[in-house]
Amino acid sequence: MAEINDKNIPQKKVVYSALKPTGDLQLGNYIGAVKNMVKLQDEYNCIYTIADMHSITVENVPADLRRRTYDFMALFLAVGLDPEKSILFVQSHVPQHAELAWVLNCYTQFGEASRMTQFKEKSAKNPENVNLGLFAYPTLMAADILLYQADLVPIGKDQKQHLELARDIAHRFNTVYSPTFVVPDGIFSKHGAKIYNLLDPTSKMGKTDDNTNGVVFLLDDADTIMRKFKRAVTDCDTDIRFDESKPGISNLITIYSVVSDKTVEAVEKEFEGVSYADFKLKVGEAVVEYLKPIQAKYNELINNKDYLLEVMRNGAERASRIANKTLSKVYRKVGFVQLP
Ligand code: AMP
Repeated sequence: MAEINDKNIPQKKVVYSALKPTGDLQLGNYIGAVKNMVKLQDEYNCIYTIADMHSITVENVPADLRRRTYDFMALFLAVGLDPEKSILFVQSHVPQHAELAWVLNCYTQFGEASRMTQFKEKSAKNPENVNLGLFAYPTLMAADILLYQADLVPIGKDQKQHLELARDIAHRFNTVYSPTFVVPDGIFSKHGAKIYNLLDPTSKMGKTDDNTNGVVFLLDDADTIMRKFKRAVTDCDTDIRFDESKPGISNLITIYSVVSDKTVEAVEKEFEGVSYADFKLKVGEAVVEYLKPIQAKYNELINNKDYLLEVMRNGAERASRIANKTLSKVYRKVGFVQLP
């Protein structure tokens, strides 16, 4: 239920979302997450975080993390995230995330955290760096969400288990003490929002994929984008038709349909009888055109670090005010003495 404020106007629900700067933003992030974040701004109070603290749970190159934090903020603004409408900030600028995470660690069982699929997968992939941060990732994520009393969290399927844990922790804390946290619900992206690697169209396009030739990064130049689309894997058929048995072509149809704002059916009709090679060129060109204004705006912003820092500072101040309210409540409830 939305809270009613003193003017009897139902308050907008709070949406929380975070992106980890562990790799450069790619088309899948944009189509599957960021584009939706832009839309949600009109209907909800949105809080969007660049989750740099989550990034250091895996191997970290400090210069890359620093560059990407600026890049992400510049791209957020370039695609239309609006610091007047939403709160945009960098996680490490709001220390309450780490503080609440510690408390939540103490209300999370070792067994629960051990069952997290992401932890199992990441530790199996990197047995030489199974650090405590990787293990506690879900409690930091729970803190991120619960600090802002978020009602809704847009997530991909891969984060479903972590959100369930956040809900369990919130319930537990509310039961042991008294209602403290809003128990958040997930918003799952609709069918068609998932983008696949151009060279391996059965696996999701990812910012840390080994084969970057199949990944279209938002900051790739026109030649690179065209080269990647020209090489995209298709099939031995000739029909441009969306079909589960044709993952490569279906992926290209999805991409074209998003960037041209047309339905899948309209795309199939538009390219009836067109060769795969020509279709790949058209999709590449459409993506280049689509990204042009975003890249132009990015280039303007990335050269204005003072402005980016100002957005980060304002965002952190606004986030911190909300986070502090929740954290003070939590500290009081667990029995920490508050200084007058
Ligand atoms: P990640 O890059 O895996 O940290 O994901 C950040 C956000 O982008 C999450 O909401 C993902 O679900 C979304 N995302 C990442 N890759 C894709 C993709 N290939 N297709 C659709 N959504 C994606």
